[in-house]
Amino acid sequence: MSVTFQPALYYTVTARDNNEACSNSGQVFTVPEFYSNAGTNCFVQCGVCRQHMEILTATLLDPQPEVS
Ligand SMILES: [Zn+2]
Repeated sequence: MSVTFQPALYYTVTARDNNEACSNSGQVFTVPEFYSNAGTNCFVQCGVCRQHMEILTATLLDPQPEVS
C-alpha cells in the first residue's frame, strides 16, 4: 500500500525504519506536522541511518496549521 499526498498541505505521518542495520529498525515514528511540498517525493528520513523510512499512514491535518 502506498500513501499519496496532496500538494502543499500538512499531514501527520507515521513512518517505520526498515533498515535492519539501523538501531531504529522496526520502530515507528510520528511526524506531527509533515509538509507535503509538491505532493511528490515526500520522504521521512531516519536521523540515524539517513535512509528513507516507509510511510505507513498520512492523516491530513484539519485544520491546517497556520503558516506565517
Ligand atoms: Zn535508520
